[in-house]
Amino acid sequence: MNDLQAKNLIHGEWRPAQSGAWGTRHNPADGTALGRYAASSRVDGDAAIASARRAFDQPGWAQNPRLRQMVMLRWADRIEARAEELARLLTLENGKVIAQSRGEIGAAVSEIRYYAGLARYMPGHVFEVEPGAFSTLLKEPAGVVGIIVPWNAPAVLLIRSLAPALAAGCATVVKPAPQTALITAALIAELHAAPGLPSGVVNLVSEDGHEVAARLVESADVDVISFTGSNATGQRIMAAAAPTMKKLSLELGGKSACLVFDDADVQAVAPALAAAATIISGQQCTAARRVLVHAKHYDAMKLALTASLRALSVAPGLAEGAHIGPMIDEDSARSVGQRIDEAMAAADEVLLRGSRGAGALARGAFLTPTLVAHRDTSAFFVQEEIFGPLLVVERFEDEAEAVARANHSEFGLSASVWTRDGARALRVARALRNGTVWINDHNKLFAEAETGGYRRSGLGRLHGYDALIDFQEIKHIYQQVGAI
Ligand code: NAD
Repeated sequence: MNDLQAKNLIHGEWRPAQSGAWGTRHNPADGTALGRYAASSRVDGDAAIASARRAFDQPGWAQNPRLRQMVMLRWADRIEARAEELARLLTLENGKVIAQSRGEIGAAVSEIRYYAGLARYMPGHVFEVEPGAFSTLLKEPAGVVGIIVPWNAPAVLLIRSLAPALAAGCATVVKPAPQTALITAALIAELHAAPGLPSGVVNLVSEDGHEVAARLVESADVDVISFTGSNATGQRIMAAAAPTMKKLSLELGGKSACLVFDDADVQAVAPALAAAATIISGQQCTAARRVLVHAKHYDAMKLALTASLRALSVAPGLAEGAHIGPMIDEDSARSVGQRIDEAMAAADEVLLRGSRGAGALARGAFLTPTLVAHRDTSAFFVQEEIFGPLLVVERFEDEAEAVARANHSEFGLSASVWTRDGARALRVARALRNGTVWINDHNKLFAEAETGGYRRSGLGRLHGYDALIDFQEIKHIYQQVGAI
């Protein structure tokens, strides 16, 4: 598979970049060429923004919820019909193991259907503010939305922004990560082919650098930016969006702590945490990064986690029995691998020493998992989001210390609590400053349940009914009718 091609979609037409430039994507498992994508520049971004603006200014989409629902349902059916082919492409391009790709495509279909239903339920309200005077509050689509997508879960993270934006009645410009432009184009092609979609409601522009993304952020014709990605980029976007005061939805990094109490079953919890730490090779914002264990189980947990991580098979994502695929690319394997080496050099104890894959794996961007134990929560590898298969174990003496340790973080995306004591589970969940807290599980994300960050993990919520707010304005219409 090396003839795949991702062109731009602008006003209903597939086109190469105006410059004619292309970027090449390689399979991270073996370095072979997979396909090419339009390496666009500012002019392509401007054309896409103008196309979305024109589409939004027609009433045919923004004011037609039944059409929006039908198009979205047809889109979901089309993706479902090609689910296995799309899952394989996702694995080839991103590296994640095929079971995770199948789960991601299935979740994307489910999420489109969820928002297709909501497209027909956006009620406002009316009340009499004074005798004979009525205030009507309408939910209106916010306008043109720029969607900037990362590479780690490119299907579900595209849909998580695009589906509520479409349901709300917006027109969109999608800017994929260059590492996953092919799967993004394949998903958008199914939407483009869904009967009823007006031209220009969905535009797609891929690029090698950040010129198009930056244009979306600075343009006065873009009303909302929905960005999922790193904190560094999120902060740049927030600063660059200030002059136009556009609405921002920022889903940023995390450093999930998992609190394991003295009544938990260590032998059952350890394999679950090993899987939660190595999902997408540790390249998931909510991946388990810190395991905080009660002193009673500290030694047993260190042994059990070491054994569980060692048992995971590191192999190409399409290989039978693979648990951990390659990192997204060679650059990432090198830079994350180096940060993990620095963590091993600084940690109190190294329990499992990760490395680059050997033998046949040496052709790909593989990293095997690392486990360290450490006491000081201010260490860089306890604080920083290291986007790969590194897990840190810490010890605590009581509930108060566990909560204080977990909350010592500038992030606030997600955490988990492992205990059989229901009251404690809820008490600790309330005390943790995170947008999501799982009890006796980790990484459970649903179309129906809002996710987002406290503190530096972001702004706004995606998934769930409240995600629509990021793509809507509320208009107050006042009418004086007089009292009889
Ligand atoms: P990234 O910030 O490098 O890139 C994300 C997107 O932004 C890509 O499309 C990229 O091309 C674009 N981009 C990069 N620099 C830009 C700039 N200066 N201006 C505008 N756009 C720019 O992030 P990544 O490495 O692709 O993704 C990993 C990060 O995403 C991690 O920090 C992870 O925690 C985070 N993430 C968060 C969530 C969440 O729900 N909170 C979900 C997934 C990933």
